[in-house]
Amino acid sequence: MKPAELLTTIAEESAACTLCELQHSRKNAVPGAGPPEAEIMFIGEGPGFHENEQGRPFVGAAGKYLEELLAGVALTREQVFITNVVKCRPPGNRDPQIEELQACNGYLERQIQAINPKVIVTLGRFSMAHFLPNARVSQVHGKAVRVGGRTIVPMYHPAAALHQPSLRSVVQADFSQLPSLIAKANDIQDITPPSYEKTENPEQLSLF
Ligand code: URA
Repeated sequence: MKPAELLTTIAEESAACTLCELQHSRKNAVPGAGPPEAEIMFIGEGPGFHENEQGRPFVGAAGKYLEELLAGVALTREQVFITNVVKCRPPGNRDPQIEELQACNGYLERQIQAINPKVIVTLGRFSMAHFLPNARVSQVHGKAVRVGGRTIVPMYHPAAALHQPSLRSVVQADFSQLPSLIAKANDIQDITPPSYEKTENPEQLSLF
């Protein structure tokens, strides 16, 4: 199947998904949006109220800020693929639970395979943990690492910077590296840096 067909199939499956409890709070699944040939894939946490209403990712305040950050590096949301680790809204915007993340993993992995992006930007700790389970965003943001043949750039979630204005310059600086990271994405060594190897108390993972 072609990437576009694969993405359509994943979208259809997620709309009818019964693999976890989030099916009950779903008005619309939010599988993700963007061109199948996108070079950059952004992975957030999960749909919020507006995303659940519209079936599109990052359409609320965090999405508006994400668009501003993209514009800062001459990109539009139409040029990148944007998705989340869970495709259905956690009730009241609570954190996604481990069973929900596990249930949704297959959709995300298939999306990554279909798109085969040069760079994957994780937004916030839940999507970072998909690739770097023991890392902290505060320690690794903006640093490209190659994990399992994929170039991952962990970043703070845009909502974190909205809530904590002191983070905005940090987030902007991380975004400003994106064009050069795309250019050298395949040259980054496939490593798991030592600091990610040892599990600290996962409960201590900072929220953003
Ligand atoms: N926050 C996310 O992590 N994802 C969305 O789609 C919207 C807000």
